[in-house]
Amino acid sequence: MRIAFLGLGHMGLPMARNLAAAGHDVVGFDVFQGAMDAATAAGLPVAETGAAAVSAARAEIVITMFQSGKQVLDAYRGVDGAGGLLDVAEPGTLFIDSSTIAVDEARAAHQLAEAAGHRSLDAPVSGGVVGAENATLAFMVGGRDEDFEAARPVLEAMGRRIVHCGGAGLGQAAKVCNNMILAVSQIAVAEAFVLGERLGLSHQALFDVASNASGQCWALTTNCPVPGPVPTSPANRDYQPGFAGALMSKDLGLAEHAIVSTGVDAQMGMLARRIYQEFADGAGAGQDFSGIINTIRDESARGAA
Ligand code: NAD
Repeated sequence: MRIAFLGLGHMGLPMARNLAAAGHDVVGFDVFQGAMDAATAAGLPVAETGAAAVSAARAEIVITMFQSGKQVLDAYRGVDGAGGLLDVAEPGTLFIDSSTIAVDEARAAHQLAEAAGHRSLDAPVSGGVVGAENATLAFMVGGRDEDFEAARPVLEAMGRRIVHCGGAGLGQAAKVCNNMILAVSQIAVAEAFVLGERLGLSHQALFDVASNASGQCWALTTNCPVPGPVPTSPANRDYQPGFAGALMSKDLGLAEHAIVSTGVDAQMGMLARRIYQEFADGAGAGQDFSGIINTIRDESARGAA
């Protein structure tokens, strides 16, 4: 396939490289010169602008991997009178946005693309930079069946698990719901370890019980927030991410937006949003989100003093 890949950051560049390695014709672009330099050094052809990448690639597929929904919508429709990607693409081009953005922003992107005569999917990912590099990402996809089927071979060049979650925006919906579960469960596991410490229970004993009982979850058995029981968890390397607190805070901001707009009584989700916002506003931004255990321990010590 002929593919324009826009947004060559931590995730986008390795994803674009995997597409090229799988035999697709890829032309990239990023507004940040450092990302363009890295792409060139990696042997990826780049164009002067996003629109030029779409034209140069004679793109059948346009993939965006940006930080925010505003960036996606601005790029689609153009800003300050400059034409957008939707204007320069051939009719019927398949637009795939893999950025993590709000469900209603994703739906707005679908509407813009369809109104311009194109096809569109939201396809956010999980798996982080390691997954992007190793082509083992999970894709959560929203959009029409036929567009999903057309995109599948392309997504398979970048990922291992590709799930069609339903219509427009439902890929983002699945991502936001999953990450809300993850945030709440990571906090619960961290609280349990600190409570266990206070009660005289060893980390290993709690792990041995809970990992084989109803407390079992990914936050415990893969991302264990104390060093020792799971040697590969970030706690064993001073909480280097992994999944950074800043990204968890961003995703919970999207969860909060969805919770408020739907009126769901998601008290745990809202509390997790507040806890991770404070964590990311402080030292936690660059730490793995399991580092929340240190905040809980510190706050507990303050309470006991
Ligand atoms: P990043 O900041 O490293 O990369 C985003 C890139 O998009 C930047 O280089 C930026 O210059 C570029 N960009 C913005 N507007 C552009 C435009 N109009 N045209 C061309 N380029 C443009 O971010 P990242 O870590 O690669 O994450 C990308 C997305 O993936 C985010 O939405 C993030 O939430 C999501 N995500 C990230 C991870 C992770 O571990 N990093 C994991 C899952 C999902």
